[in-house]
Amino acid sequence: MSDGPLARKRSLLFDLDGCIWFGDVLADGAAELVRDLRASGRTVGFVTNISSGRARQIAEKLTRLGIPTTPDEVLMPVEALAEHPRMRARPTTFVIGQSELRTTVAELTDVTHDPDRAELVLLSRDPQLRYDDLADALQPLLRGAPLLALNVDLRVPVADGRILPGAGALATALASAAGIEVEVVGKPSRFFLDTALRRFGVDRDEAVMVGDTLDSDIAGGRAAGLTTVHVGGDLRTLRDPAPQPDLSLPGVSGLRGLLGL
Ligand SMILES: [Mg+2]
Repeated sequence: MSDGPLARKRSLLFDLDGCIWFGDVLADGAAELVRDLRASGRTVGFVTNISSGRARQIAEKLTRLGIPTTPDEVLMPVEALAEHPRMRARPTTFVIGQSELRTTVAELTDVTHDPDRAELVLLSRDPQLRYDDLADALQPLLRGAPLLALNVDLRVPVADGRILPGAGALATALASAAGIEVEVVGKPSRFFLDTALRRFGVDRDEAVMVGDTLDSDIAGGRAAGLTTVHVGGDLRTLRDPAPQPDLSLPGVSGLRGLLGL
């Protein structure tokens, strides 16, 4: 094996949107890269803030696009929810999100529509959201209940090129009205990356987080003490100072040289 600055790293954690795939198209060289990483004995995991569906569906999409993947190689916020410190006490939970999220949460704890009973507000993106839902969710927050978001991504790009408000935009509305901070299950929380290391059986010192978003992938990787690689040219950030990756590349195929593949 030839040398490279990341040649001793044994585990690669990849973001999906804008990194491994763009909508329904794989990034250039992504399938070959993952194949060769696995062939070299490295661990590959997919760590995504996607908050609809489950790991099985993400694994099926990766497999269909040319990267054979099992659900246990994918971590998404909903799959980490049961282990989150805020959920471990099994609080009565007010859910803002699609019905599939409500169903998932109901397997973990009591779900309520009654603002007076809620001990936690859990939020995800909900295209059917009504103003009254936000008003109801605000009441427990004003009484001191925590606000937990599956992700705090502000923008969701969709297929026709439009940008939709993400869970982070909705969470910001509630948090500012309540005068509190939102807590997040997914990236950039250290909890999420720590959960990924544990799930995938990966050592912190040997792991690299690769992604296209400074505020989630790079900030999260740094929070967990991982080596970080930024891909693509999107340098937008709301953080000051901007999260600094250890390395930057135009796309994932550039990892080959860094890894000595
Ligand atoms: Mg991304």
